[in-house]
Amino acid sequence: MSAYADRLEALAASAADRCTSCGRCFEVCPTAREIGLEATQSTRRVGELVALTRGAVPAEDLQKWLGACDGSARCSEACPEGINVRQWVTIAKMKALEATRVREVGAVNAANRFRHMAQAVRLLASMQLPSQTLKRILAPAERRTAEVLFYTGCNVLRTPHIVLNVMDILDALGLDFDVVGGTAHCCGVYQFQEADLPTYERIGHRTFQRFGQSGAARVLTWCPTCTKNFDELEKDVAAPSFGLDHVSEFLAANLDALKVRFKPDQPRRRVVIHEHLGIGATLASMRKLLAAVPNLELLELPQESGFSYACGGQAAKFKEREQAIHRALAEGAVALGADTIVTMYHSCHRALAGAEAVYPQLKVVNFTDVLAEALGRGGHPDYYRLYKVGGAMDEAVAAARRFLEDNGVTVDEASVQSLTADIFNETGLAGSRDAFAAAFTALAKTT
Ligand code: SF4
Ligand code: SF4
Repeated sequence: MSAYADRLEALAASAADRCTSCGRCFEVCPTAREIGLEATQSTRRVGELVALTRGAVPAEDLQKWLGACDGSARCSEACPEGINVRQWVTIAKMKALEATRVREVGAVNAANRFRHMAQAVRLLASMQLPSQTLKRILAPAERRTAEVLFYTGCNVLRTPHIVLNVMDILDALGLDFDVVGGTAHCCGVYQFQEADLPTYERIGHRTFQRFGQSGAARVLTWCPTCTKNFDELEKDVAAPSFGLDHVSEFLAANLDALKVRFKPDQPRRRVVIHEHLGIGATLASMRKLLAAVPNLELLELPQESGFSYACGGQAAKFKEREQAIHRALAEGAVALGADTIVTMYHSCHRALAGAEAVYPQLKVVNFTDVLAEALGRGGHPDYYRLYKVGGAMDEAVAAARRFLEDNGVTVDEASVQSLTADIFNETGLAGSRDAFAAAFTALAKTT
């Protein structure tokens, strides 16, 4: 066993030692209820979790619980002992998989998931970003010299206007920062989830080490999954040489410096936030930031913010539930007279970007769109929203043609088909896929 694996074991063992088996964590778990596991069985399930941590074979219902977990962190919130139960469950899930199947099965699953994601990210980024920006993002982390590293992760590059917004905001603050990300700096989530720990150590663990090698004083994360992984599977395992915050937390801590730079002539907006709990103080930070934007009215809409820490990802197992959450949000926003839904993360943005096709009175923007605009920056086209709304595709195709050529990337009809499925099979609100499929198939035939 590696030194890293030993330290993970020690984290889980310490949780098991501190646990009083009160059962609160299992009682509040939304996904355990979703798959029909009874809250009345809480002490039994927790007993099985403790037993697995101490080396027992994983019990059947425990495996179901662990398999259903989408990382909501309601368990950690509820634990009277202050145990990070989500972290414990994440490690236990990996142990249960190790105990019930050979590592090669997980390694193949993880490699396939990674390959599929990397292909989609590479194409979508090449359709929406100039090569100079992409090269800057992909350059090796350990060679950077800036004081602050803005770490994008992989998947936000499907909606790269968000990355450009954050760069604009950090630039407006006059920071010595650099941007780093893409699949060469993956957080290793697939390998960990599939219990391929040796490969995780070469990918996610290594990415975290590379941040340290750069000498940066602070790393700002964007992706909620990367944030959760680095917090729970790296920072808690060995204290890093740098500070680690989500971008929103860092910006909220620097609100005074932002506020004096906000332009007063902002558009009037009635805003509902699409909320998720579970990743540090991100929601509270975004509320604080948006509340300070001139002419922006934040409307309160009760919603299911505790079901998952973000849309998609592990929550995609519960498609109907996610769909109901998205519908309720949009209908609630319309009933309140909102004109804007503000998204927190990129996966949520992808899920809701097409809402305008169903609810024409609603515009969907990311919180970074609002902040960058308030600073007199931003305004980067959200091509993904155009794809999802399904209307005229001319602007998006013209940009894609230009950027693909600049990046030296071509698309063929098969990759357009695969991208269409990727974009439109996600849970969420969208128009028809036909406009995207037809316009980009035509593009593929002429490149
Ligand atoms: S993180 Fe959320 S889904 Fe996972 S076990 Fe805890 S409460 Fe359940
Ligand atoms: S809530 Fe905390 S103390 Fe209670 S069973 Fe869960 S982990 Fe143990």
